[in-house]
Amino acid sequence: YDIPALRKLDVAHHLPAQSSYKLQQDMGGSRIITHAKGSTVYDGEGHAILDGMAGLWCVNVGYGRKELVDVAARQMEELPFYNTFFRTATPPPIELAAKVASLLGGNLNHVFFNNSGSESNDTVFRLVRTYWALKGEPKRTIFISRHNAYHGSTVASASLGGMDFMHVQGGLPIPGIEHVMQPYWFGDGFNEDPVAFGERAAAAIEERILAVGPENVAAFIGEPVQGAGGVIIPPPGYWQKVEAICRKYGILLVSDEVICGFGRLGEWFGFQHFGIKPDIVSMAKGLSSGYLPISATGVSSEIVEVLRASGEEFVHGYTYSGHPVAAAVALRNIQIMEDEHLVERTREDTGPYLAKVLAERLGDHPLVGEVRSLGLIGAVEIVAEKGTNRRHGTGGQAGPIVRDACIARGLMVRAIRDAIVMSPPLVITHAEIDQLVGTIADALDASAEQLAA
Ligand code: PLP
Repeated sequence: YDIPALRKLDVAHHLPAQSSYKLQQDMGGSRIITHAKGSTVYDGEGHAILDGMAGLWCVNVGYGRKELVDVAARQMEELPFYNTFFRTATPPPIELAAKVASLLGGNLNHVFFNNSGSESNDTVFRLVRTYWALKGEPKRTIFISRHNAYHGSTVASASLGGMDFMHVQGGLPIPGIEHVMQPYWFGDGFNEDPVAFGERAAAAIEERILAVGPENVAAFIGEPVQGAGGVIIPPPGYWQKVEAICRKYGILLVSDEVICGFGRLGEWFGFQHFGIKPDIVSMAKGLSSGYLPISATGVSSEIVEVLRASGEEFVHGYTYSGHPVAAAVALRNIQIMEDEHLVERTREDTGPYLAKVLAERLGDHPLVGEVRSLGLIGAVEIVAEKGTNRRHGTGGQAGPIVRDACIARGLMVRAIRDAIVMSPPLVITHAEIDQLVGTIADALDASAEQLAA
């Protein structure tokens, strides 16, 4: 590739997602990533970068999987596309729906396909309201979500999300969505017993339900572990309490597993780790390990029965719902995860190893207020004063400062306010975990003066 020419064209024509176009211009164009293998990506200047983010929380089986290339090529040759609008379907999405349903377990027997996590949550939005209307309870329209939740970037999914800065652009949220506190112990409950704090965070949901009237509430939606909101691992007991509240008021429970699904927490799904039973599940990312865009919405039999009994069409869906090539790749991706025991490995080996190395290398670091991880997702909280959650006077820039120092040292991680978060491929090795955490330690040391300034 002619990298300088590409970077010029990038500035001239390409608008990257979730980006400042001024920064893109000031940088002289985006960093161009050209190829990848295993857990390492390479940029156009030949730098190797350990991918501590699995692309964008998605490349669970790692890069360079020839099996996925082959299955996509075969499917494209045989049948690149056919729709599911004309009472037609192709083999791969049918097989994938059955496979995903078997992994979901319980009464989550049905699967609707979309192309992205955002679209899946838009499907949730329309499906839930349609369900209640057809069930004869049309007043149940309100969704309860949480501050700093991330459910996507389309109008409905960004509204379901709880990021205020995303609501500013476009005049969101749309009506009918209530946001309550997130279970962020380190940030919001530091001086409280964690379990009591988790109970308080769950109780906030019940208070809001009562405030708006339980008869008006359609569903609660939450990520088992909030990802983009800062890798918020809720205190023990939180999810059980949330589930009990939903059951008490007959409210649907939606688990947004776009990040947590497909092994990230050491179970196929985050709700399985927390031992709860949602009615609807959103999945994307790890479903195909990002090799092709595809997402899925798992739906309980009870909900589908109501739609069936009504005889109504569910007038929702996308040209590429159940795309045969993406579905074939997702099926093969799941098979790789099973063959290589990546879920068990995350639960029993690499996840605990990451937790151990984070604690050993960073637990005593003077700039680290907390390390937390579950499976292969984790966060490092950067503080000004050890033993507190007091931040540097950088206005939330501690994360970006340390992230840039990580990138300069060959590690891609993400900054979320004053934290560094990580979500590496599930194929990451112990040596790469050592490198990942060691690089964060070096980056923290190198950033100390800038943070204090
Ligand atoms: N839900 C969660 C929990 C996510 O983390 C994301 C993306 O990061 C989405 C939904 C949106 O997915 P997509 O970017 O594929 O639309």
